Amino acid sequence: MTEIHDTVILGSGCAGLTAALYTARAGLKPLVLEGHEPGGQLSITTLVENFPGWPDGIQGPELIDNMKKQAARFGATLEHAHVSAVDANAHPIRLQSSLGELHTRTLIVASGASARWLGLPSEQALIGHGVSSCATCDGFFFRDKPIAVVGGGDSAMEEAIFLSRFASKITLLHRRDAFRASKIMLERAMAHPKIEFRTNTVVEEVLGVDEKEVKGLRLRDVTSGAQDVLNVSGMFLGIGHVPNTKMLLGQVDLDDEGYVKTTNNVFTMRNGAVVPGVFACGDVQDRRYRQAVTAAGSGCMAALEVEKYLEDRGH
Ligand code: NAP
Repeated sequence: MTEIHDTVILGSGCAGLTAALYTARAGLKPLVLEGHEPGGQLSITTLVENFPGWPDGIQGPELIDNMKKQAARFGATLEHAHVSAVDANAHPIRLQSSLGELHTRTLIVASGASARWLGLPSEQALIGHGVSSCATCDGFFFRDKPIAVVGGGDSAMEEAIFLSRFASKITLLHRRDAFRASKIMLERAMAHPKIEFRTNTVVEEVLGVDEKEVKGLRLRDVTSGAQDVLNVSGMFLGIGHVPNTKMLLGQVDLDDEGYVKTTNNVFTMRNGAVVPGVFACGDVQDRRYRQAVTAAGSGCMAALEVEKYLEDRGH
């Protein structure tokens, strides 16, 4: 007989691990499938200064590692595995995973969001050859080289500031002249001697596809239409994220950008009605706040709802 889990958690970022901690402490022996990006976005960030309780900040990977240890201590099982399909109509819920078919009474979707790309063919061809969406992973390769960072939000500012440790010069490219970044991050980046801003500018092409390394960027000024070439050895994207919800298509309602629609914070819906036993938390259902602490908070809510759901059904 296939084992029926009380709860399976998709994703091991801040939301998934908080849900794991709470369900583990409730004795539900959660199974966490870590997904394609174990640890989520915090595991590829640097100093987290706004997670309460860490007055001097904490490195993202360390924070995630602590959360994993804390969840495991109470009985959560973490597996390097991912899910390709969900059948939320079946009871128990069925999951097609890299571990085979899994059955579970409840499902917590905490699969987060992944880096967004510009979508240029030349960009896609040069990922890993000078094009990156992860400053902490790849910054080291650009010691004393000029690079560009694309974006106008906190991610782009954070990447530019982090990359200033390595790069000789950073050009921050933003498609508008107003920024989404918080004042503190924007001011830090603007005051940095190595960071130069170019606004109203978009990337038309990444040069160097034949050479298999970034040789420069062909840029266009969106106000004048003028084009020029920026000589850089690397391009980092900081243009936001897209939710990881492919495996949920047709199973739960998604909004026009693919985020899971929820009601009462963490209840998923299909055709507007609550889907029994399926909860969502963290960035996969949050296009507004997207903070580590809000992800953790909704992970806690999802876990408490799972507990109640199982209790109401006599488990
Ligand atoms: P974001 O705030 O959505 O910003 C994305 C930026 O990328 C925007 O400036 C956007 O331009 C630009 N962009 C999007 N698609 C683009 C495209 N196809 N081509 C060119 N530019 C494009 O995303 P984020 O910076 O990743 O931040 C997400 C959330 O995480 C925010 O709530 C942020 O505060 C938080 N965060 C916090 C920290 C921190 O506090 N340390 C660090 C990182 C992230 P437009 O403005 O023109 O739309």
